[in-house]
Amino acid sequence: MKELEEYIRRFGTVKEGNVLKVDAFLNHQCDVALFDRMGEEWARLFAGKPVDKILTIEASGIGIACVAARHFNNVPVVFAKKYQSINLDGEQYATSIHSFTKQKDFHVIVAKKFLSAGEHVLLIDDFLANGCALNGLIEICEAAGAVVEGIGIAIEKGFQDGGASLRERGYDLQSLAIVDAMDPATGEIEFR
Ligand code: 5GP
Repeated sequence: MKELEEYIRRFGTVKEGNVLKVDAFLNHQCDVALFDRMGEEWARLFAGKPVDKILTIEASGIGIACVAARHFNNVPVVFAKKYQSINLDGEQYATSIHSFTKQKDFHVIVAKKFLSAGEHVLLIDDFLANGCALNGLIEICEAAGAVVEGIGIAIEKGFQDGGASLRERGYDLQSLAIVDAMDPATGEIEFR
């Protein structure tokens, strides 16, 4: 999506440690008109796929997933919740995820009542790096018996291995912008 690439070039900053900061429009201040056009693009890319529900992870996935849902017949959006520790009472699907940006592990849960066997799910998230967040969401879908119809990502960092490994496993992964290289010294960003 050319427009998203332009936003990244204009407003994004490249940090040390392979971190791209896009808090001017994506994950702190939110450009909802852009989110709307991203949702439109995912609807085009996943046209014809049955989608009963969108699943994302807090916090930054929530905004884009909710706006995207407007383009998927207003299906419900469920977000996996993060906790430092959890007491499982059998009412939740749970897994643990390593956070790339915070460099620590989180437990994430989804209430069983919000994800059911046979439901067709679209996964949405802001970034794809090593794939830990998505692998956690996929694990939760598997535990529920839900079908992952596709994965919509705003920004994939193509130089990290999450995207390649998900595509190898056969997932329909659609990233709206793929960064193949970025340089914190010059701020230069190269797109696929
Ligand atoms: P992964 O689990 O694929 O390694 O990383 C994806 C998650 O980490 C996303 O949910 C996102 O919140 C965060 N993340 C990974 N890389 C970046 C980055 O370069 N910039 C920002 N802002 N978040 C990132």
